[in-house]
Amino acid sequence: MRIKQAEFVTSAVKKHQYPELGLPEVAFVGRSNVGKSSIINAITNRRKLAKVSNTPGRTRLVNFFNINGGAMLVDLPGYGYAKISKTEQAAWGKIIEDYILQSPFLKRFVLLVDARHKPTADDVAMLDYFRYYQKDVLVVGTKLDKLKRNDIRKNEKIIRETLGLAPEEKVIFYSAMTRENLQQVIDTVFAGILP
Ligand code: GDP
Repeated sequence: MRIKQAEFVTSAVKKHQYPELGLPEVAFVGRSNVGKSSIINAITNRRKLAKVSNTPGRTRLVNFFNINGGAMLVDLPGYGYAKISKTEQAAWGKIIEDYILQSPFLKRFVLLVDARHKPTADDVAMLDYFRYYQKDVLVVGTKLDKLKRNDIRKNEKIIRETLGLAPEEKVIFYSAMTRENLQQVIDTVFAGILP
């Protein structure tokens, strides 16, 4: 699958701000610093497309990107900041929950985890939450270039076990540095969604 066109559409907090194009959505989520902006930039083939989400004041927004005029890539705010108040945490939870509960076009989640480490309690909670809402989940292990080749299978096993993935649920390892497996990520993210 080729990404021919990728456009930033809008940032939103509330439902009335979500775009009303009726396109199927794939939502990206992960711990802050996991490499979410980097992978979104690679998929959309733009250097700074997803950086809007990193500018102060925009970190708590849901960002929508139109892909090939046929799907929406949704960038959800990252979680697990070291220094975050209870109030901020609650605000984050509300934005995510509002989005999940109110987006009829949401088809799939892409959960980003660091390929080097055992998924965190937050990652596990996030995945359980998606399962509760019966959404498709694709797990992408980021920063593959930082992983020794010998450790790939071992780490995949740890990630699978920690997240409780079924055999048919996919984990793809990806590097934003080398772009290894980018095409596989794109094909899997949009499988059944884009032609
Ligand atoms: P976000 O907070 O999840 O959006 O993460 P960013 O995409 O901003 O990345 C956080 C940091 O990790 C940045 O310094 C990136 O350059 C770095 N990073 C992201 N992906 C990779 C990767 O695949 N390999 C390596 N080595 N560094 C990465």
